[in-house]
Amino acid sequence: MSNPTVVEINFQDRKPNWVNIIVLAALHVGAVAAFFNITTQAVVTAFILYYCCICWGIGLGYHRLHTHRSYVAPKWLEHFFALCGSMTLEGGPIFWVATHRVHHQKSDRHGDPHSPRDGVWWSHMGWIVSGESKHDDAAAMSRFAPDLAKDPFYVWLTNWHWLPLTISGIILFLIGGWPMFLWAGPLRVVAGLHATWLVNSATHLWGSRRFDTTDDSRNNWWVALLTFGEGWHNNHHALPASARHGLKWYELDISWLHIQLMEKLGIATRVRYPRVDAPMAEREAA
Ligand SMILES: [Zn+2]
Ligand SMILES: [Zn+2]
Repeated sequence: MSNPTVVEINFQDRKPNWVNIIVLAALHVGAVAAFFNITTQAVVTAFILYYCCICWGIGLGYHRLHTHRSYVAPKWLEHFFALCGSMTLEGGPIFWVATHRVHHQKSDRHGDPHSPRDGVWWSHMGWIVSGESKHDDAAAMSRFAPDLAKDPFYVWLTNWHWLPLTISGIILFLIGGWPMFLWAGPLRVVAGLHATWLVNSATHLWGSRRFDTTDDSRNNWWVALLTFGEGWHNNHHALPASARHGLKWYELDISWLHIQLMEKLGIATRVRYPRVDAPMAEREAA
C-alpha cells in the first residue's frame, strides 16, 4: 500500500475479457450503423460531445490534471472534467490515472500496461480486451492513485463510470432518436477510444523524437490533432509535469491553449511550465 511502484496487478494477463469484448463489439456495430442514420443535428452533437469528452475530460482532466497535477483547478471543475472523462468509456478516474502513472513508471519496459514492444495490437486495444477488467474497481487501483482515492466522488465515479454515459445515451435517444443516439453515443465513443488508444500505440511507434528519453515515445502531429494536443508524446515523456505538451509554435496543443486561457481568467493556478534544460529527475519533480 505504501509503495505505489509495486505492481501487484498483472497487466500482461492475456485471457480474453468477454465483457469488454462484447461491449466494444456492440459499440463498433453501433458506430457503423450511425452512417445509415445521419442528421445534421446528430453530427453536430457528436462533434461537440467528442470535444467535451476528449479535450476537457481526457486532455485537461484525467491526463494533465488528475494524473500529472500539472495545474491546479477548483474542485468543482476537477469533478466536472472527471465526469466528462468518464463519458469516454475509458474507465473511471482512479482506473485511468493509476494505469497512466504505471505507464510513466514503466514506459516500454516490463510492467508497462500498453507498450507496443508487447505487440502493436496489444498496445492499441489488446490490453483492454484482455485480463481482469479494473475499469470500475476503485479498491484495486487506488494504491496507484491514493490522492484520488481520498475523494468519495472519484471513488463513486470509478465504481459507476459507465452510468453518466448510459444516462446520456437515454437523453440523446429521447431528443433525437436513433441518429442522435448512434452518432453522439457509439460513434463518438468509438472515435474517442481509438484516438486515445493511438496515444498508447502510434505515439510509441511513429513520429519524431526531440528528447532522447529511455522509452520509445514520439511526437506525432496527426495524433495531436485527433486528441487536442496529446500526440506530442515524446515532449510529454521528457517533461511529464509540464502542462504544455506542444513546445513549438507549430506543435498545435489545443489543451494547452485552454490551460493558458484558464490561467488568464484565474481559474487555473500553479500552472507548470516546461523546463527543457533541467535534468530529467528535476523535470519530473518540477
Ligand atoms: Zn507514453
Ligand atoms: Zn502522461
